[in-house]
This record gives sequence, structure tokens and C-alpha cells, in this order.
Amino acid sequence: MIEEILKKAENMQGLKDDEIIQLFKIDDRRCFNRLMNIASQLREENRGPIKLTSTIHVTNKCKITPKCKYCGFAAGTSPQGYYHGFSKKDDEILKAAKKIEKAGIPRVSCSSAHGYNGRHAIRAARIIKENTSLELLINVGSDLKRENIQKLAKYGTDTICCNLETINRKLFHHLKPGETLQQRIKVCELISEEGIELSSGLLIGIGETYKDRIKHLRFLKRFKSLGEIPIMGFNPYKGTPMEKHPPCPLDDQMKTIAITRILYPHLRITVPAPTIGPENVKFSLIAGADNIATVIPDDYPLDVKGVGSPQVGNLKKILKTIKSTGLKAEIKTEKLASPIPW
Ligand code: SF4
Repeated sequence: MIEEILKKAENMQGLKDDEIIQLFKIDDRRCFNRLMNIASQLREENRGPIKLTSTIHVTNKCKITPKCKYCGFAAGTSPQGYYHGFSKKDDEILKAAKKIEKAGIPRVSCSSAHGYNGRHAIRAARIIKENTSLELLINVGSDLKRENIQKLAKYGTDTICCNLETINRKLFHHLKPGETLQQRIKVCELISEEGIELSSGLLIGIGETYKDRIKHLRFLKRFKSLGEIPIMGFNPYKGTPMEKHPPCPLDDQMKTIAITRILYPHLRITVPAPTIGPENVKFSLIAGADNIATVIPDDYPLDVKGVGSPQVGNLKKILKTIKSTGLKAEIKTEKLASPIPW
């Protein structure tokens, strides 16, 4: 039975919900490895080298009240996170972006907390696009109106991220009592309508069911400009209301990444180093991911705490990991790129 489902997945035939649930429930090592091989193969056939995305956090002063129950990013939420509020000045954003570019990382994600109508994000987009050749993803959650999206487009923003986290409405409102799912869906629609690439992902291990995940993955199909799906395994941040909630198991994260690859062979599937854990990045690659986020070069001028956990990915270590799996990274530094086929 499971072999038939795996064969269908391998041949890119559509899977029914109950078949996908069987994939989530795999507990046999041989079938698990076969699922991973199928996902990796689909990535090889449909995607290029592994993308690396760095990070600039512009401000953590979030005006959402009450705060999301898992959040360790916003000021005052977790002693393991930033805790103290900050807003990066223009020259700090520029210096960080230049460092990322010089290190050869092709892409940067700029995130900013909620409450400014995307103002900080627009500022960051202008600075980055006027001064570097970096690809740019902007993430300010649902804090965007159409006119702000148009401004981000004007500056050449490549991708805008608005994660729905979960489309289990009850769970969403329990975890994010200061936001509405409807508002997040609306922003995804606006981004899509404006023709900018949409990134929209799942936070997993937060109490959702496999059915919720499948419904969520299918729901994303409605957004025409969807180009990227981040899969973010939950990790508890100390001092938050969810500090005792267990972290999402690694094999569950791997299955979800692989199933997402099967459902979306042509899309960028992102795994942030902090959510899977920098030491586990290779398992995200084995499962079919093709973009590692929150990759930080040496001598980076800003203190970075990952969204999802305080750990971030070090560029050199991530490159070694990618090489050890036999894959190639997209890296722009001549020194790193030319002699060694990363
Ligand atoms: S997850 Fe985002 S919106 Fe929620 S409290 Fe944290 S910074 Fe604010």
C-alpha cells in the first residue's frame, strides 16, 4: 500500500489526502529513506543549486497586542531572544547588506515587526536595492497595504513573505490572539494580485493535525504568484507562553519538507537554519529543501537571533554541509566559487 503511494509520488501523479496522511505516518526506515530519495530526486529534476538567504532584522518593536504565544523575536518576549527593543539605522542596514553581498550570499531577507504599515521594510528595500545586487525578500507579516506592496515593487523587491503559519483558524487565534488569519490571507492575495513573488509557509509542531497541514498546503495553490514555501519546525523560546511545548521532531520536519516537495516540485522550499537547528541543515537538504535561510557570514556587524530559535546558520559551516551532501550552493564570491565546486 505505502509502496504504491510512493510510486505515485515518484511519478508525479496526484495524491489523495488519505495517501498523504500515510506518508506522514511512515515509521519504517526503508520507506522513510525512499520518501526522502523521491523528494531529493524531484528537487534535482526541477530546481537549481541550493539557494542561501541571509537576514537583516530591521526592528523588533512589535505593536501586536497580545503577542503571539511562540514569539521570541519581539522586544520583551524572551530572555533568549533579543529582548531589548531596537530599530536599525540606515547605515547599519547598509553595512550588513554589504557584508552579506561580499560574502557571496545571493539573497537577503529583511524582517520587521508589526505596526508600521511596512515603513521600515520599504526603507530597507530602498537601501538594499539601490546599493547592492542582492535578491531581496521582505517579511513584515500582515503589516502591509496595497500601496506599500507597490512601493516595495517599485524598489525592486523580489519576494514578499507572509506566513499563514497554520490555517486551522481556532489554533491560529489561540497562538496569535493579536492577529487574524483573514488579514494574513488578504495580504497574500494582495501580493499575488500585484504580481510579486509570494513566500508563504507553515509553522509545524504547534498542535496542528496532518489534515491541517495538507489543507494548508493545498490552500496555498490559490495564490498565483506563490514561489516559495518555508517549512518552519516549532522550537520553544524560553519565557514565552509556549516554553513548555515540545519542539517539532526532526523526522516530522523532514517528512513535511519531502511532502511539500512532492506537492510543489517546482517551487523554492525554504528551511530556516534556526528552526531545524544549524546542525540539522543537512537533513532538510536530504528531504528536498533548496533554500537555507538565516545564513550569517563571519564578521557580520549585527547581533542576530533567529526567528524560531536564537541559533543561526554560519555561512562556512552551511557551505561545508551542502558540499558533504554532494549538492552545489549558489554562491557569488569568486574566491569561494571558482576553485571549489560548492
Ligand atoms: S510573531 Fe511577529 S507579529 Fe507576532 S508578536 Fe512576534 S513579531 Fe509580533
